[in-house]
Amino acid sequence: MFDNDYFTELELACRCCGKNYFKDETLRRLIQVRERFGKPMIINSDYRCPVHNARLNATMTHTTGQAIDVQVASGRAYRLIKITQEEGFTVIGVWQKGAFKR
Ligand SMILES: [Zn+2]
Repeated sequence: MFDNDYFTELELACRCCGKNYFKDETLRRLIQVRERFGKPMIINSDYRCPVHNARLNATMTHTTGQAIDVQVASGRAYRLIKITQEEGFTVIGVWQKGAFKR
């Protein structure tokens, strides 16, 4: 499952306990997205165990192993959104930090 050129098992595991119930199908799609995007994608958050998730007071999506938060450089988000939609991700949230730079 984790034999790929882009993401390590550690990056995709829960940050508090190292557990990993990330779905194979989601990883397959994530790799497709990364391949097409062609630029670095930093994993901010991936699988979260229920305890860790509760501590963050977050929605439950990360506990299903089907949610990923990634960070990309300014100005690349639109392209990433387009690719993730085409690869079958159905819920896409965007958070922009700082002013948009050209
Ligand atoms: Zn945990």
